[in-house]
Amino acid sequence: MALEFSVKSPIKTNHTSPFRFIVSHITRHPIAALLLILGAFSNAFLAGVVPGAVGSAFDAIRLMNDETLRLVLNSVLIIIASQTLRSFLQFIRNFSAEVFAQRFERDIRDELYASLLGKSMSYHDLQPVGETMARVTNDVREMNLMMNPGVNLIAGAFMFLIMPAIYAPGIHPQLILVPLLFVASHLLVQVYFVWRLYPIAQEVRGSFGRMNARLAESLDGLEVVKGSAQENQEIGAFNNLADLVRDRFIAQGEFEARYLSVLFFGLAVVAALIHSVALYRSGAIGEGQVIAFLGLINMFQFPVFISLFSSSRIASGYAGAERILEVINAKTALDQNARGYNAGIIGSIVFDNASFGYSDDEEAISNVSFEARAGQTVAIVGQTGSGKSTLSKLINRIYDVDEGRVLVDGVDVRDWNLQSLRSQISIIEQDVFLFSRSVADNIAFGKDRPDRESIVESSKAAQAHEFVSAFPAQYDTIIGQRGMTLSGGQRQRLALARAFLTDPPVLILDDSTSAIDSATEDKIQRAIWSAARGRTTLLITHRLSQIRWADHIVVLRRGRVVAQGTHEELLRTSESYRHIFDRYAPSESASLAQTGG
Ligand code: ADP
Ligand code: MG
Repeated sequence: MALEFSVKSPIKTNHTSPFRFIVSHITRHPIAALLLILGAFSNAFLAGVVPGAVGSAFDAIRLMNDETLRLVLNSVLIIIASQTLRSFLQFIRNFSAEVFAQRFERDIRDELYASLLGKSMSYHDLQPVGETMARVTNDVREMNLMMNPGVNLIAGAFMFLIMPAIYAPGIHPQLILVPLLFVASHLLVQVYFVWRLYPIAQEVRGSFGRMNARLAESLDGLEVVKGSAQENQEIGAFNNLADLVRDRFIAQGEFEARYLSVLFFGLAVVAALIHSVALYRSGAIGEGQVIAFLGLINMFQFPVFISLFSSSRIASGYAGAERILEVINAKTALDQNARGYNAGIIGSIVFDNASFGYSDDEEAISNVSFEARAGQTVAIVGQTGSGKSTLSKLINRIYDVDEGRVLVDGVDVRDWNLQSLRSQISIIEQDVFLFSRSVADNIAFGKDRPDRESIVESSKAAQAHEFVSAFPAQYDTIIGQRGMTLSGGQRQRLALARAFLTDPPVLILDDSTSAIDSATEDKIQRAIWSAARGRTTLLITHRLSQIRWADHIVVLRRGRVVAQGTHEELLRTSESYRHIFDRYAPSESASLAQTGG
């Protein structure tokens, strides 16, 4: 029920906690995970061969007899062979770690994107675009880095950490003591470190998201910023947010600098020296074995220095995972109702006492009732903010009513299969959004692979063909590139062409002709009437010439229906209706009132 549209995604993962989420992604690639662990183990194991071989060589040199050359050569060969094997295995390990991390990132990004498209508009209304962008790009990237180098190095560090405890008892059983103590203290430090670093990393990620949200917003509204000469204020506000990101990162760095393991390592070297020399003096081990043991203790250097880095990768990745899960797990009220009513729409629309508010304390639509019979054209009029656009969004369930019902063909829209309902209703919005794709792709959006002929045909019907033909690449012109921007009127005609192409049984035109200049109005007028023919059309408009011919007119004020009827009826009976006419077309209204009255 969490999704409006469960976009089919083959990725099934656990969303109950960041930890389970990460683990369930890891287990999707078992072979890569296994190779990573085996690689880390063999790397440390083969590195552990060196101190022993060096110790033996040292003993052989001290003896200085006939055997010396052979023994030293032996050690050299052991070192060469083991390190050659080691670097070969390292290659496999690092390669699979990279493959692993990149797949990990791709999977999570896919999953997040599918989940974002599945959210309702009520969710997206509240979510700053830049913040969402930061999650999809940066937080997902953090999770990649958490795997490689993060987890990869942690696995490597862990193996280097346990290796001395495995090799040392081979020299003398007592020598396991210092390695064990060090392993315990190092692990404690790591747990403490990640635990303390995690909230700091959360703040780093959060501040980055806020900065991104601000950036996206001011780029989006750049025209307003420039138009009101607010550049300096915007730069100042952005600088503050950027400073905040810097401060958070510095706070992270400051904490990382207080890293105790380096101190523990120093202590371990001293303790190992004392312990092994004591054993040497009691005759339990030889000189070469002291050297071998100290060489083993030196292996701790790798985990000590690398854990600082890899643990902070883990903390950051974990914070990123949490932010990603926040998006995936956000519940939205609409659900797609896949088993709902699924049929071709005939076209009757009924509002039955419908009420809706964007927030709990204010209704945008209150107790609205009216009917549009199949094939009729119903005009919705009212001043700006009276709820006309909101009304249209209740029909295809961009939002759900709070009370009452909206029926399409006698079936409550909530009982319709959402996909089926939406695919048969076209809404042309006030601000037409066009993708940065070709003109043809924009017209064809919402329809699978239409041929060029039908695209051109719908474009002609929408009176768009003429201006499209004047473009350098005509229908292949990419919108938004190299100055290829369109005027409001041109955008609306492209949207009309889109509607002609999909040929929906229900068409909603939301102030779609407001931006069209009077020179083209006549043509558009004809286009709209031919578009309205044979389908139920909801016409939200200010244009008298369009309203007059509607079968039914609904007058809205502050979300309520204050009058409805035909043009002539309303002119006679409704003060509000006449008022609207006075505002937008005083002369025409006056003449109509005379002839009508
Ligand atoms: P109209 O299309 O008639 O100009 P709208 O339906 O756009 O009016 O708006 C009706 C009311 O709902 C207005 O008060 C407006 O501020 C509010 N409103 C519109 N869209 C949203 C939204 N996404 N979130 C919150 N309030 C909104
Ligand atoms: Mg509107």
